[in-house]
Amino acid sequence: MTTTRRGGLAIELSTGHRFIRQKLAGKKWRWLCVKQKWLKCKAFLCTVDNVIVKMSDDHTHD
Ligand SMILES: [Zn+2]
Repeated sequence: MTTTRRGGLAIELSTGHRFIRQKLAGKKWRWLCVKQKWLKCKAFLCTVDNVIVKMSDDHTHD
C-alpha cells in the first residue's frame, strides 16, 4: 500500500494498475481504479482489514 501525492491511500497491483481508496461501507473499503474518472474504467476492489476480499480487475485501458 502506498500514499498518493494528495495524501490518499492507494494500492498498486502486480498488474501495474493502481486503485485509490474511496469510502468505507461497514468494515469494507472500496477502491476504484485511478483512471476511473477520465477513462470511465469500472475496475474496483474491496478490502477488509487490508486484505482484498473482492476484485474486478477489468480495465477499459492498458
Ligand atoms: Zn482501470
